[in-house]
Amino acid sequence: MRRIPLTVHLPKAGVSLDEPRAVMLSHFHADHTFGIAWLILGRVLHHEESPPLKVFGPTGTTSYLERLLDFAWGEEMRHYSWERLQLTVHELSGGDAFEVDGSRARAYRMRHASRLDCLGFTMVRDGVRLGYSGDAEMSDELEALVAASDHMITEMTYDEEAGGSMHLGRKDVEGLMERHPSTRFIITHRGSNGSVSGAVMARDFLTLHLPL
Ligand SMILES: [Zn+2]
Repeated sequence: MRRIPLTVHLPKAGVSLDEPRAVMLSHFHADHTFGIAWLILGRVLHHEESPPLKVFGPTGTTSYLERLLDFAWGEEMRHYSWERLQLTVHELSGGDAFEVDGSRARAYRMRHASRLDCLGFTMVRDGVRLGYSGDAEMSDELEALVAASDHMITEMTYDEEAGGSMHLGRKDVEGLMERHPSTRFIITHRGSNGSVSGAVMARDFLTLHLPL
């Protein structure tokens, strides 16, 4: 997967930088968070008037975001963009229910990196219960998250092996699909180009309209 700034990626996917009302951060690893520095400053620089932005994430999100923006653009731009976007940060724990842009959502504690709080989410919109694992190993909480979702975006970092630590492998994903036959799986964070029978394999700029 290429790591292009979100200021390029989002418009290419047909989403204006001005559009997102909320960002949900699963955990603080760079491939899941560094894009938000581009989104925040890009939105401020390209749009005179911008709707407020809410950020949802694990405990510590406020200080993580401050440090990230200081590192990326400096303290002055951090203050400026924070104010212009009326940025509000909501720190969540596993089990917390919250609302994102009018949709009901819930955080699940995922097992991924031992020193970080890691979350997965469900969000309900237009009758679709969409789940997202973030990065996760197998756990009872992940099982509960899949059970609460009729569409599930999950990772599959390892293709050949059973899984290993920190991430899911093909056998894990296939096991989840077997145990939750009414859930449609969309697989991202892929370690190879292999496909999984019955699942949608995500790729850059893939657009899906739910329900599938
Ligand atoms: Zn990670």
